[in-house]
Amino acid sequence: MHRPVSLVTGGAGFLGSHLCDRLLAEGHFVIAMDNLLTGTVDNIAHLAGHERFRFIKHNVTEFIFLAGPVDYVFHFASPASPVDYLELPIQTLKVGSLGTLNTLGLAKAKRAKYILASTSECYGDPLQHPQREDYWGNVNPIGPRGVYDEAKRFAEAMTMAYHRVHGVDTRVVRIFNTYGPRMRLRDGRVVPAFISQALRGEPLTVFGDGKQTRSFCYVSDLIDGIYRLSQCDFHEPVNIGNPTEFTILEFAHLVRELTGSRSEIVFKPLPQDDPKQRRPDITRARTLLGWEPKVDLPTGIRLTIEYFRQKLQTTGT
Ligand code: UDP
Repeated sequence: MHRPVSLVTGGAGFLGSHLCDRLLAEGHFVIAMDNLLTGTVDNIAHLAGHERFRFIKHNVTEFIFLAGPVDYVFHFASPASPVDYLELPIQTLKVGSLGTLNTLGLAKAKRAKYILASTSECYGDPLQHPQREDYWGNVNPIGPRGVYDEAKRFAEAMTMAYHRVHGVDTRVVRIFNTYGPRMRLRDGRVVPAFISQALRGEPLTVFGDGKQTRSFCYVSDLIDGIYRLSQCDFHEPVNIGNPTEFTILEFAHLVRELTGSRSEIVFKPLPQDDPKQRRPDITRARTLLGWEPKVDLPTGIRLTIEYFRQKLQTTGT
């Protein structure tokens, strides 16, 4: 039996490491590539010594050389938290542009399938709700989030160009807010922020009035959707996310309840260009992949709380 060889860029990151686990479970040889800018080897430590797993520390904005066959390239490398885009704006732009170019070049040379991790940020602060894949978005190109949004929009354009011009077998997954174990405690995104604040007994920092909405997908559901997409023949973007929508204030109350915390809720200024609403229309994923999320928010948040509780006990930070 031929075992597929998969390259996962960002393989030591939150989503990349879960994807490595899934691909190994499906029988693939997996090469995780990461420059450890926001990823950490802790996320893949359990795979050390696995006979079908290899880790390469490399920055994918530089030429990628890999000997031997590659069947799948999953391009998942990128800072992904708004706090990180502010701190790493140029790296974020480079990995979405040069990193996408290099990984597409590799996929072309190896005749590999190519799966681009894109994002709901392509829709910006959306004027259409819920967001369908044919919506072109409402993005501020020069705002602080533009470095991520525009890099990913460029990455989508480049991926479609390689598909159309060079016939590369590409997929584009637009990932909506996802959470779960292996997110960093100080990642800055709302799920780790609220859970770690609640566990430390610190105030939960709601930005703005908390009426902005998000729809949170548990990581195992997301990875399942991505794996299914990699196995089907479709080249247009596909939203993968959970369509159940909450306000951020509702979410803060849920975290307080599920952690049993008595932390107060405080209000802080809303970051610039923070989308007011976000919810995926997942009709395409449902029909194409027979996929929909299975893990509801309280269940997923309990699992995530458990992970963060242990992290706090062992690292104390
Ligand atoms: N948010 C918040 N408090 C925090 C972190 C985030 O109220 O400590 C809000 C943020 O303003 C946004 C939502 O939570 O409206 C989701 O933010 P996140 O950084 O997780 O990602 P985004 O969906 O904006 O990319």
